[in-house]
Amino acid sequence: MSDDETHTTTTAAFHATVPGVARIGANRELKRAVEAYWAGRIDAAALETVADGIKRDSWNQLVQAGFDSVPVTTFSYYDQMLDTAAMLGALPERVATISDPLDRYFAAARGNDLVAPLEMTKWFDTNYHYLVPEIGPTTSFALDASTVLADVTRARSIGVPARAVVIGPITFLALSKAVHGADAPLTRIDDLLPLYEDLLAQLADAGAEWVQIDEPTLVTDQAEGLTELAERVYGRLGAVPSRPRLLVQTYFGDAGDRLAALARTEVDAVGVDLVAGGVDSVLAAGLGEKLVVAGVVDGRNVWRTDLDRALATLQSLREHVGTLAVSTSCSTLHVPYTLRGESQLDSTLAGWLAFADEKFAEVAALSRALVHGAADQAPQFEASRAALATRATDPRLNVAAVRERLDALEPADWTRTTASIRRAKQDAALNLPLLPTTTIGSYPQTVEIRKARSALRAGSIGTTEYRDRMQREIADVIALQEKVGLDVLVHGEPERNDMVQYFAEQLDGFFATANGWVQSYGSRCVRPPILFGDVARPTPMTVGWITYAQSLTNRPVKGMLTGPVTILAWSFVRDDQPQAQTAQQVALAIRDETVDLERAGVPIIQVDEPALRELLPLRAADREAYLDWAVTSFRIATGGVAEATQIHTHLCYSEFGEVIGAIAALDADVTSIEAARSHMEVLHDLDEAGFANQVGPGVYDIHSPRVPGTDEITASLREALGAVSANRLWVNPDCGLKTRRTEEVTVALKRMVTAALLVRQEA
Ligand code: GLN
Ligand code: ZN
Repeated sequence: MSDDETHTTTTAAFHATVPGVARIGANRELKRAVEAYWAGRIDAAALETVADGIKRDSWNQLVQAGFDSVPVTTFSYYDQMLDTAAMLGALPERVATISDPLDRYFAAARGNDLVAPLEMTKWFDTNYHYLVPEIGPTTSFALDASTVLADVTRARSIGVPARAVVIGPITFLALSKAVHGADAPLTRIDDLLPLYEDLLAQLADAGAEWVQIDEPTLVTDQAEGLTELAERVYGRLGAVPSRPRLLVQTYFGDAGDRLAALARTEVDAVGVDLVAGGVDSVLAAGLGEKLVVAGVVDGRNVWRTDLDRALATLQSLREHVGTLAVSTSCSTLHVPYTLRGESQLDSTLAGWLAFADEKFAEVAALSRALVHGAADQAPQFEASRAALATRATDPRLNVAAVRERLDALEPADWTRTTASIRRAKQDAALNLPLLPTTTIGSYPQTVEIRKARSALRAGSIGTTEYRDRMQREIADVIALQEKVGLDVLVHGEPERNDMVQYFAEQLDGFFATANGWVQSYGSRCVRPPILFGDVARPTPMTVGWITYAQSLTNRPVKGMLTGPVTILAWSFVRDDQPQAQTAQQVALAIRDETVDLERAGVPIIQVDEPALRELLPLRAADREAYLDWAVTSFRIATGGVAEATQIHTHLCYSEFGEVIGAIAALDADVTSIEAARSHMEVLHDLDEAGFANQVGPGVYDIHSPRVPGTDEITASLREALGAVSANRLWVNPDCGLKTRRTEEVTVALKRMVTAALLVRQEA
């Protein structure tokens, strides 16, 4: 590659890197430290020591992996969007009086006795949640780059080839929220650009050679005119006279013609996600001599890379672009740290996987192979080929019985009779009052429940003792519901640690990791199951618990299941077949459970799909196909029961936007949906979408410990009655109650029932 030397920019080009890395710590050290800090058990200095250790370990690890450019500012005490808001002086005014910067930062993240926290929402289509910055009419911006500068300086001082990383102005504003009547945050872009110019200058002064500016928004349709905006913003930042080399990093999709827009600016490098996106837009962009950071190793799923294919992609690109670096498709924030320690996996399974550590080795191997050929990296390439070969032939990935069942499915299998006919039969069977009252499924996860679960795990109690303890919990919850006077009861879900993991543990085709923790938000981590093979349900998963609950009461008890879309959304999913097909396999397993519940005499079954909107593709063009398979899967899951069996579903969040038509298309008999915080708006949207089945808009917000007054709930119900007729309206909280305390729940539900009785008389 001697022609590299003839270009001025390429002396500092790099060859192997990653856009960012996890920061919770391989053993969740940061989680423990921040929680100890919040509880007052350690001071800020001790917390900082832990943070410094995590940073240093990750830098060293990347250097040792052979990376010649290392992202050194992707650490965060809580969240990278919050860090950006802090860097730009845009924390909400209500925390401004908190003088200690760290406490101010955590107050914005978590709230305190006096102030509400920022809202939290999903980071693109991942399971990571970021804090949503608020931009009001009086929000002003002021740069404080001290944290970024300090990390760059420290990393450079120990010889790390440091690259600063910050979230870009387009993404920052596009993901922020206007408050107090302000215009759309993106209208403030010109106020931010001087700060980014200043940041570039300060980084140059600190000796930074590279800065990466993340602009994942450029792969979305989140705003109009993003292509022109990208050209304008990076035209200006590219023109900053003395600045570090500038990499504009995209991920989570194909940046399309936004790459061509960046090509017309003076930025030095562009990062692309070649797992979610393709090479065509890179080739078409005319990037000239710019460095292309090619994300060919999947940063957000857990499978070992097909190195031959990745190398072929890189080789085809190399012929058309100036310089090439190998990278993961996005930050490895989204996958567990390492496969080391997953000793419970059989060696075949383990051989298919690559967590962050293993992905770094893949990136390094590809970057060397690009120069010296695949033979130079024989062990890595061989392992990759072996994984592909054994995955292709493993019987667990190709179960004839599952495949045949799927092939035999016909529209009649996912189409129930007309809703009005079902309604008449269900009314006759259930004999419920007008405005029936119910809850979403879970009741408080008490200390006793947690103790029983950990005792079972530790082996200090057996399964019989565990079952007895769970049954006691169920009996308590049934008694509570009868006491407050609810019409449709639930068993309370004490046996579930998590609404996806619980099912994954019992279904064929999944396995669980021992230590595969991934940050969900702040200090909270999840351990998503891995959906690796064909899915089937060997035995009933919930029937015993539900029938036990039903045996304790004369009122109807709802069976409680998680839907196929949500199971996919909260797992790592096999990548060797279309998601639609995987979803339908899961749907058939859930369908088996509904049929068994019905056979056991359960009259109502709820299939939760809180993640329906989360999986919505980032690009409008891909959405119809997704919604089509998502709806079909739900309907397969729920289409096997008789007309008289009532199907409920539950969805979280109230701003459904484009998903609203799909919610109607689920054709559940009763849909409970969050609405308490948005004044029942969703009911009007559903109406416009032609939805005519029954609906239970949440009448109080369970996310807050505040117990609502009877009058408040009554007002919510009257508001709801302005949008749907009384004979279609159910009365329920807006989500499950597992995070609340029993005392709160008892009072709140009592008031909810009182309100329902009151409004029932008026209706
Ligand atoms: N049935 C679940 C519960 O009540 C639903 C949870 C959810 O909506 N995320 O906890
Ligand atoms: Zn919910």
